[in-house]
Amino acid sequence: MENLKLAIQKSGRLSEKSLELIAGCDIKLTQGTRKLIAVSSDFPLEVLYLRDDDIPQYVADGVADIGIVGENEVMEKEKNVAIVKRLGFAKCRLSLAIPKNENYHGIRWFDNKRIATSYPRILQKFLNQNNIQAKIEEISGSVEIAPGIGLSESIFDIVSSGSTLISNRLKEVETVCSSEAVIISTLGLSAIRQKLLDQLLFRIDTVQHSKGNKYILLNAPNDKLESIIEILPGMKSPTVMPLYQKGWSSVHSVVNEKEFWVIIDKLKECGAEGILVIPIEKMIL
Ligand code: ATP
Ligand code: MG
Repeated sequence: MENLKLAIQKSGRLSEKSLELIAGCDIKLTQGTRKLIAVSSDFPLEVLYLRDDDIPQYVADGVADIGIVGENEVMEKEKNVAIVKRLGFAKCRLSLAIPKNENYHGIRWFDNKRIATSYPRILQKFLNQNNIQAKIEEISGSVEIAPGIGLSESIFDIVSSGSTLISNRLKEVETVCSSEAVIISTLGLSAIRQKLLDQLLFRIDTVQHSKGNKYILLNAPNDKLESIIEILPGMKSPTVMPLYQKGWSSVHSVVNEKEFWVIIDKLKECGAEGILVIPIEKMIL
């Protein structure tokens, strides 16, 4: 039996969510004899634990069939891989930042400046597009300290909340691109492995669809049913079943977290009682 080989980050910001995603697909991993590989007993999947920087290369070479990695690494490494799914976590942006007290007058500020970064290719492309002549200082980590120690006048790095910039007395002045975790695939996957990948992507879809959705049950007097059903979206339309007590019905539906409280308030106003809210594990549309 052929296994699909999935590369994930060994330890770092993507690791926990990647493992959560696999577990959410009901794929259990048993630790292999070697610590860098785990296999699953209930899905033909083998997991390779790697440094995130190396994942695009391994996937391009076909050592791993697929990988979970930040889009930023995919853009930077420019390997021959396909993005097959966006995962919605590890959201961040790549930005240029300069010392807080600098007077920023626009992109030309960067002319003849030194910029420290771990993403030289993405940065060079951006500089070329804007006709900026700057010197890129490539370093592999702790980029934010570069201006403080005199290595550069500015940085180009990952930003999410911006707190790292603030604590290093820097300010974000240009956002170059945004990023999130994605699944990449090697090109020319064998038919068997492509089928396994499709099965895995289908499971991921069911987990993603269920996210933020709740199953809701409530009791309603029959004369209020029309107005209550109007409020509820439901996957197709709500289920309505008679209660043993005459004149009352039980209504079942699916509600998204975003509109949840607004809907609950409206339902109460319309006379709904005994409202139950239940988490949804999987949703197959
Ligand atoms: P490795 O040792 O595997 O090379 P690393 O130190 O390069 O790890 P991490 O800091 O663990 O990488 O980040 C992994 C990925 O998570 C990044 O490439 C990026 O896509 C995303 N990421 C990094 N920082 C943040 C953040 N502050 N918020 C959201 N996502 C982030
Ligand atoms: Mg890395």
